[in-house]
Amino acid sequence: MIDIQTFMLALGVGNVAFALLMAGYMRGAENSPALGYWMWGRLSIGLAQLCWWVAPQFELRLVEALSACAWLGGVALEVGANCLFFGFARWRRALYLFTLPGWVAVCYAVATGASRLQLTELISFIIALSVFSAAVVLLRPREAPLLQRLIGINNILFALAIWAWLGFERGSPGAGMTPVIGLAYLASYLLMIVNGFGFLLLCKQKDDALMRRLATIDSLTGMLNRRAFFERAEAARQLAVRLRKPIALLMLDIDHFKQLNDGYGHACGDEALKMFADTARGVLRDHDLIGRLGGEEFALALPGTTLDGALEAAERLRLAVTEAPVLGCAPAYRMTISIGVVMIDTFEELTAALARADHALYAAKSGGRNRVEAGSLPMLKRA
Ligand code: GH3
Ligand code: MG
Ligand code: MG
Repeated sequence: MIDIQTFMLALGVGNVAFALLMAGYMRGAENSPALGYWMWGRLSIGLAQLCWWVAPQFELRLVEALSACAWLGGVALEVGANCLFFGFARWRRALYLFTLPGWVAVCYAVATGASRLQLTELISFIIALSVFSAAVVLLRPREAPLLQRLIGINNILFALAIWAWLGFERGSPGAGMTPVIGLAYLASYLLMIVNGFGFLLLCKQKDDALMRRLATIDSLTGMLNRRAFFERAEAARQLAVRLRKPIALLMLDIDHFKQLNDGYGHACGDEALKMFADTARGVLRDHDLIGRLGGEEFALALPGTTLDGALEAAERLRLAVTEAPVLGCAPAYRMTISIGVVMIDTFEELTAALARADHALYAAKSGGRNRVEAGSLPMLKRA
């Protein structure tokens, strides 16, 4: 069976290899402070483990003490990377609280002539403590994704295995390789691999979500952009056809928006667009779709809504907008909107229904603005 020295060598090589791989990945990639901390943490842990492996061969006490400190520092950097990833504001303070007493304890142990085993126990205890607190961070959010939960559970297993090993070692010192020690080795190895890949995958998951958001969401209003609205509305249309449910489509345009822009400035126009988005979100149901087609023009798809229901919703929205002030830049200004409403016919293309809604919107505009207009029925119907 593998002894602790060989095991240390294997962990050291593995962690350094991980760090080098990360450094290679990060060259030319988007700057990510969390990944940076994580990479330096891994490198520090890996080098510390290699030094830990080398030290007894040359009776190097000082190297042992330094590598113990580097090890604890590396673990702290990894915990820091997790905190940075989850956006904790004051994580640095927590890290100092963790690392400094650890370093003091290690220096004290070396100065008072603690044995190598005692030093190993001390470091293991502190590491298990920090890994356990990282697990609490990972597992605390109720809606934490599966990947995050797996890493958290892995952390807990590691901490428990280390503490079991410490208890066992105290109970029967020098018992050689036992199932408890085997379990502690296994847990350390899993920690290295699962946490290593896990953290990278967590970062990738976050980046993917950001990319998805950038590709589908209008950055000013937070609404679906044109492309995403068409995609989702088409899916909603197909579902409605399959379930034989009605689906309403609305086209909407802010009245005299140019006047607001010209009178109060473009930035105020932007504020007004955001205000409109917030108001619309407050009025609509969760599964209603709203997209910004461009400028101050929007489209809504209301699944499961009849024409009467859609006209009612449009009227509610129109009233809500007239009552909402553009806080900050134009509190006295009252914005109004015009809306065209149609029902999407079973055999009708989405674009054809949008054209009808646009026509109704035009009628609302020419009828005096600040009003809701129902559109015509579709021209063509297939049998
Ligand atoms: P109508 O009642 O006929 O709709 O008149 P309108 O002034 O709203 O219509 P028009 O289409 O002439 O003007 C729309 C204005 O919206 C022109 C453009 O400068 C402005 N606009 C488009 N996109 C943005 C934006 O993102 N931010 C701001 N502030 N203004 C925008
Ligand atoms: Mg307009
Ligand atoms: Mg317009």
